[in-house]
Amino acid sequence: MALIVQKYGGTSVGTIERIKNVADRVIRTQREGSQVVVVVSAMAGKTDELIGLANEITRTPDPREMDVLLATGEQVSIALLSMALKEKGVEARSYLGGQAGIITDDAFGKARIQSIAAEAIKRDLDAGRVVVVAGFQGIDEQNNITTLGRGGSDTTAVALAAALKADICEIYTDVEGVFTTDPNVYRKARKIEKISYEEMLEMSSMGAKVLQIRSVEFAKKYNVVLHVRSSFTDEPGTIVCQEDEEMEDVLVSGVTYNKNEAKITIKNLPDRPGIAARIFSEIGKANIVVDMIIQTPSTQGGHANLTFTVPIGDYEQTLKITEKLARELDAGDVVGYEDIAKISIIGVGMRSHTNIASKMFEALANEGINIMMISTSEIKISCLIEQKYTELAVRALHDAFELDKPPREDT
Ligand code: ADP
Ligand code: ASP
Ligand code: MG
Repeated sequence: MALIVQKYGGTSVGTIERIKNVADRVIRTQREGSQVVVVVSAMAGKTDELIGLANEITRTPDPREMDVLLATGEQVSIALLSMALKEKGVEARSYLGGQAGIITDDAFGKARIQSIAAEAIKRDLDAGRVVVVAGFQGIDEQNNITTLGRGGSDTTAVALAAALKADICEIYTDVEGVFTTDPNVYRKARKIEKISYEEMLEMSSMGAKVLQIRSVEFAKKYNVVLHVRSSFTDEPGTIVCQEDEEMEDVLVSGVTYNKNEAKITIKNLPDRPGIAARIFSEIGKANIVVDMIIQTPSTQGGHANLTFTVPIGDYEQTLKITEKLARELDAGDVVGYEDIAKISIIGVGMRSHTNIASKMFEALANEGINIMMISTSEIKISCLIEQKYTELAVRALHDAFELDKPPREDT
């Protein structure tokens, strides 16, 4: 018997009507002869609403209590979906992350799944029940409730699929799959039929929030095939799987944007060995991941300006850390800037082609968009720009690389 993990995002369970529709789809899958584990997100807008409530009390809520609060969103959804299933005559049982055996580390707000004890789920499945698990949450070794970071229900689903050795993990969302760019930003975006884990990893880490990055990491590591599709149609979506020859023909497969980073510059740092190591190790100790980095000579001889980007959620804390370091290192001012966006193009075909970067820079220049920072990897190029040009840049790059055309015609 096949085992399918289905994950339904916030919009897909956004109203009671939609929850009933999800129940119908789950029942259909079960009747077709599969065991079904369902992972659900909080109803659309719920997580933001809870964050808003906390922020009415303090701008820096206690991380442990924040996770207790945020985990409630998903608790509502699992209960309602299980009720809807039972109402339609199907045996179902809901589980919070911890009850489902999902153990994480204790990094509140961005916890990582360490292990899953899936025995209870297996027993229910064998008894013919549908198992409904709350996404985005787990417990640490001390029994504290933890959450996995925004979009974390994707990761719950893929991790469960890996632990249960599911045949497929279906990610139901509000778009019909993974597109060449965010279809809500550019209507010419085209649905990608099949994409490699590697490219999807870059797409997610560069801002395509259709899949949380850690979910793709899990999928790649445990070889879980993902099917990203719409909960509103029966159309096939996008398969995320191992790279095959067909995929290599594509030069650039997608354009992404990320508005959730901020830029920090430390001016006039003494230019000597060990300074960068000191700065980035202090930031790393705070569990903050630095993304782009650039160092330029300062007008003051023997000094340099160091600029880097961090997630917006870590911005205030990073500013505090860098201001303290700047004083200790006898550096100049620390300047922060939030109105930035990172635009990236991604494609495994870049490995073997030249001139992609110049084409990207030219497309941005033609729109009068200035590039503040650049970073590259084997299969992606990213440029940091003013946030107000995000949509313009996405469209310009999508057009420049003719991503609206099917890949075969590109080569
Ligand atoms: P869910 O609540 O189902 O998890 P999300 O809002 O997290 O849904 O992710 C789906 C959204 O991701 C889409 O509505 C779309 O705006 C956005 N998105 C960004 N980039 C892409 C892309 N390349 N392909 C598809 N969707 C994308
Ligand atoms: N509810 C959480 C969020 O909004 C997790 C998820 O939807 O995946 O980020
Ligand atoms: Mg999501």
